[in-house]
Amino acid sequence: MSMLVTKSTTKKTSQSTLNQSVQYLKGVGPKRCEIFGRMGIHTIHDMLYYLPRDYRDYTKIQKISDAKIGDEITIQGKIAGINNRIARNRMHILEVFVSDNTDTIAATWFNQPFLASKFHIGDNVFLHGKVGEYKYLQLLSPEYEIIQDDEASIKEGSVIPIYPLAEHMSQTHFRKIMNETVHHFADYIEELLPEEIIKRNHLVPLNIAIRDVQFPKTVECLKDAKSRLVYDELFILEMAMALRRSGIKNEIGIPFKVGPNVDTHIRNLIPFTLTNAQERVIHEIKEDMRSNKPMNRLLQGDVGSGKTVVAIYAILAAIANGYQAAFMAPTEILSEQHFQTLQKYLQHSHVRMQLLTGSTNSKYKKDALEQIRNGQIDLVIGTHALIEETVQFKKLGLVVIDEQHKFGVIQRLKLKEKGFQPDVLIMTATPIPRTLSITLFGDLDISILDEMPPGRTPIKTFWISKDKEKDSYNFIHGEITKGRQVFIVYPLVEESEVLSLKAAVTEAKKLQHDVFPASKVGLLHGQMKSGDKDKIMTDFKERRYDILVSTVIIEVGIDVPNATVMVVEHAERFGLAQLHQLRGRIGRGSEQSYCLLFGNPKTNEARERLKIMTKTCDGFKIAEMDFRLRGPGEFFGTRQHGLPELKISDLIRDFPILKQARKDAFELVSEDPHLKLETHQKIRQKVLETFKDRLELISIG
Ligand code: ADP
Ligand code: MG
Repeated sequence: MSMLVTKSTTKKTSQSTLNQSVQYLKGVGPKRCEIFGRMGIHTIHDMLYYLPRDYRDYTKIQKISDAKIGDEITIQGKIAGINNRIARNRMHILEVFVSDNTDTIAATWFNQPFLASKFHIGDNVFLHGKVGEYKYLQLLSPEYEIIQDDEASIKEGSVIPIYPLAEHMSQTHFRKIMNETVHHFADYIEELLPEEIIKRNHLVPLNIAIRDVQFPKTVECLKDAKSRLVYDELFILEMAMALRRSGIKNEIGIPFKVGPNVDTHIRNLIPFTLTNAQERVIHEIKEDMRSNKPMNRLLQGDVGSGKTVVAIYAILAAIANGYQAAFMAPTEILSEQHFQTLQKYLQHSHVRMQLLTGSTNSKYKKDALEQIRNGQIDLVIGTHALIEETVQFKKLGLVVIDEQHKFGVIQRLKLKEKGFQPDVLIMTATPIPRTLSITLFGDLDISILDEMPPGRTPIKTFWISKDKEKDSYNFIHGEITKGRQVFIVYPLVEESEVLSLKAAVTEAKKLQHDVFPASKVGLLHGQMKSGDKDKIMTDFKERRYDILVSTVIIEVGIDVPNATVMVVEHAERFGLAQLHQLRGRIGRGSEQSYCLLFGNPKTNEARERLKIMTKTCDGFKIAEMDFRLRGPGEFFGTRQHGLPELKISDLIRDFPILKQARKDAFELVSEDPHLKLETHQKIRQKVLETFKDRLELISIG
């Protein structure tokens, strides 16, 4: 197979050949070129890496005479007849009769009249689907491929790629162009990886992998080809991690002194005994702060696990060393909440604090900025207003970022740059399965708060079916009478005809007039301006409403201890992580809290989700289950974690490859931290391409 590798092309020519516009491909004129552009295909290289979304395995074509009810089969034959009619119940039925030399079978589609024009008597077709029976054997809504004569050679006895295509482009046409492209250009693709890595992992050479992923001869070839491409994708990701990590480790940070005096002093300000988990995490942070390498730590802890006090410890330790600290939260309301909490904790200390948000009065702000600049302020708490250029610190030593996923990597970095290698502590309430977080946040050290402070009354969660909703309203009424407050969350803002979900807007009115006329019902939804949202939230916090009807946007981390009921309407429409986050809004006071999940799930998966919610409140357990149920694609909106989108890899399915790729990448970086070696140049280039907008994070830019 290695004969296929064209050795004669020099690096430069193969590079420029692959960078040519697809317009130079046979069969691609200006018009098609434009469509390709919209599909993200600009160069020949793009084309070669444009991967099928699926395949049909036509190596296993069966005889029609072998079809049995319930089987899933693939057959090939000629169209012998077409029956296109409207049944008495006004259902449109299209039957296409297909014969091979053993028998005839009908392919049947309901209510898809537009399909009729696609089939013609005498056409040669492949069909793939499940065999059912209604008068005679039928394939019910099978997948189909009409074979053009000149295409037969690509198809016969092979695994056929199916591409994600723009409108007005047929699989047949695209395949033909792809076939040409692969034929002429696949061998211009140069190997990315060093020989040892390829050998160690038994990888297929890259050019062959591309060939085989586009037009596999067998299912086995396809598997090897995919593994190779998955390896590459994960290897480059882990390379970026490894480089970031090694870059950070090479920086010189501030060696804070956190001795027994400071420790005692801080502990005296904390009004409760720390949990074991908090002790452990504080110990980890202390070690980081003492070291002369900058801290870069992610603290994961479920809502209510007590992250704030951990942050306070770190903040006070920094201030005790004569440095300033910055505490950034994603919204004004959360910043204010933190500000108030810290004021309470620090009332008997000499720490000088400042709140800085978008709505800080501008004259006042000017003074504040001056005080931050000359070091009169020790601690600044605020929103991303903190990263504006006008904010300059005298001696910033610690940066704490709450609810990390709302900030991009770049924002993190901007704040960090305001100091001279300050320590960074990032806090998130989104639990991520341990194994994965360690692998994914390769550049961060991880601490986990996996223990709730004592004295919590665990939230009781119930799944309420439609017919019990009335009883629930009575129950809610009872809670309100006791002086408690209630959240009611809806999945959509506007009434959607398609999904016909109850919408928050109309429902808020109904609840106010029909169900809870004596209570005050507030409404919060996604289309409101952020100032208005903050106002409604504040009003709710200050008990000007009994019930807050809202869409999913109730702020992460918002603290309303008096709210004891969380109702989620159409709970089956929410993901587990979302449900868990929503439930985290309650159970913050000493009273018993209740989470009521309204929903009539249609799928097993949705039922499973609701069941899990009623069984556990452990965010990490829920995250693991969520991960299993949904798969990582959705679990990680990868963007929110600052990772590049993974095109072909699946973090669960490909976890073994991920682990190996990580090991290889870290090894390579420890040997060649700046990727100077000739054999690593392709890798270097690929990392830079993939992380274009994140160059500053990587020490080889
Ligand atoms: P989160 O991790 O969601 O940010 P918080 O830091 O807001 O959680 O803590 C939630 C509540 O628990 C706060 O009211 C806090 O005072 C309290 N708390 C934190 N740690 C302890 C502890 N060790 N013992 C008792 N209460 C605690
Ligand atoms: Mg918090």
